[in-house]
Amino acid sequence: MSGVMVDVRGVHKGFGPLKVLRGVDLQVRTGEVTVILGPSGSGKSTLLRAINHLEKVNRGWISIDGELIGYRRSGDKLYELREKDILRQRTHIGFVFQNFNLFPHLTALENIVEAPISALRRPRKAAVVAAERLLERVGLADKAGAYPRQLSGGQQQRVAIARALALEPKVLLFDEPTSALDPELVGEVLDVIKDLTRTGTTMIIVTHEVSFAREVADTVVFLDGGVVVEQGPPASVLDAPQHERTRAFLSKVL
Ligand code: ADP
Ligand code: MG
Repeated sequence: MSGVMVDVRGVHKGFGPLKVLRGVDLQVRTGEVTVILGPSGSGKSTLLRAINHLEKVNRGWISIDGELIGYRRSGDKLYELREKDILRQRTHIGFVFQNFNLFPHLTALENIVEAPISALRRPRKAAVVAAERLLERVGLADKAGAYPRQLSGGQQQRVAIARALALEPKVLLFDEPTSALDPELVGEVLDVIKDLTRTGTTMIIVTHEVSFAREVADTVVFLDGGVVVEQGPPASVLDAPQHERTRAFLSKVL
């Protein structure tokens, strides 16, 4: 059995009186693909953002590849890391957003090389060669010089995926990567993600695309009311769910 890459233990997160995550436990093994399903407002984005330390949790902890995210432990106390150490940790965590979040004033190629050069101090030449290879991998070799506004939503999202891969992350997080796309553009983005699942990259994908989940997931997690209600291989969670809440959700999205 491979090791655990992402370990989420007893995580609670609220915003004022609103309790969003109420004790989430989740382990993602190295090289595995986990798909998170759940109703709108169930805390899926909050969980992904917590993994990236974009949200500070109120209780519990998260580690990636054995390293505590956002904190260091001293005895039985946790101390928050300094900003520069948090930024270093984030370079190991790729994040693909619903709305692409490309830099509008940079070309596709410049979007991809920016972080490797500024955060990882890669020589520009090597970063450009790697970026060209990544653009090829997402089927956009001819769009290196295009600005985001000159690209379709599907193409922008494929650039965003290439940009996330450029940091050679330990884990890649996707937050509803196709829900901002016109229906005819969803397939090209799912195909690129599907392709990546064959490369052994550890991934957590939040999506409502149930048939995609069935195809690519090693583990499907159903999140509802701020807890993991049910998890397991797609054949059990999607085709033989044990919990009424999972069944009710699936009957709505299928
Ligand atoms: P999901 O991604 O599953 O739709 P979210 O994690 O985005 O759910 O949100 C869960 C709940 O937390 C929602 O009710 C949302 O309004 C609330 N929420 C998320 N972020 C914040 C925030 N920064 N401040 C206040 N409430 C928030
Ligand atoms: Mg969300």
